Amino acid sequence: MLTCVWDNESILLAQSWMPRETVIFASDVRINFNKFQNCMAATVISKTIITTNPDTPEANILLNYVRENKETDVADETDSYLRESINLNSVVDVYTVEQLKVKALRNEGKADPFYGILYAYISTLNIDDEITKVVRNRCSGCGYIVNEASNTCTICEKDSSKLQSFFLGFDVLVDLTDHTGTLHSCSLTGSIAEGTLGCTINEFLAMTSEQKTKLKWQFLLERSKIYVKLILSHRARGGLKVSILSCKLADPTEASRNLAGQGHT
Ligand SMILES: [Zn+2]
Repeated sequence: MLTCVWDNESILLAQSWMPRETVIFASDVRINFNKFQNCMAATVISKTIITTNPDTPEANILLNYVRENKETDVADETDSYLRESINLNSVVDVYTVEQLKVKALRNEGKADPFYGILYAYISTLNIDDEITKVVRNRCSGCGYIVNEASNTCTICEKDSSKLQSFFLGFDVLVDLTDHTGTLHSCSLTGSIAEGTLGCTINEFLAMTSEQKTKLKWQFLLERSKIYVKLILSHRARGGLKVSILSCKLADPTEASRNLAGQGHT
């Protein structure tokens, strides 16, 4: 749960908290819905008492649960980045956005990813505003996003034998839309993003914001053939984590043929 901390004393304390490492026991917090973050949030108030890593059975169970699940989350993040050896030629099933959502619901409980082709367009591509971060440092050891506050890879830092070196890569979230609906926050990263946008990360960083806007409009609302990988994830928006494996402007004839014969249900 999101925790909102406002007073100085608690802020100092909170700075020592490690994501997925620290268990916090808080009494007398105010719980309400945070519209900005779109989730429930606990706010520290004057009566709040916070115990960090309490030595209780509940805390130990929670910590063990997080540790056990950490590995799969990380694998999930990194493998999509390091592009596992999925041969795109083996992906042949064409879906609409709605069909993918239905399939995901039916798949519920299964952790296996599934793949498909969408003839859709990118409806949101925030590469030209200053607010949205689209470039991030990744660890060359594991491909995981580097923690910006500490400038370390939280995965590799415990292994001091590993030399930590980082490289910049695209980390863009896009919305994909077709006539049946929208898949939000699909990740477009690394070399796949470079291939899609037709420029390297360094070329992109050298662009002015006008050039970035121009680049964006080359793709926005253009029908594309998009290979996606979907994983059910309770952490993702809509319960579905979508990674783009390939995105190219679609051949109009091929697209209309496939849209006409939407065979999959
Ligand atoms: Zn690493």
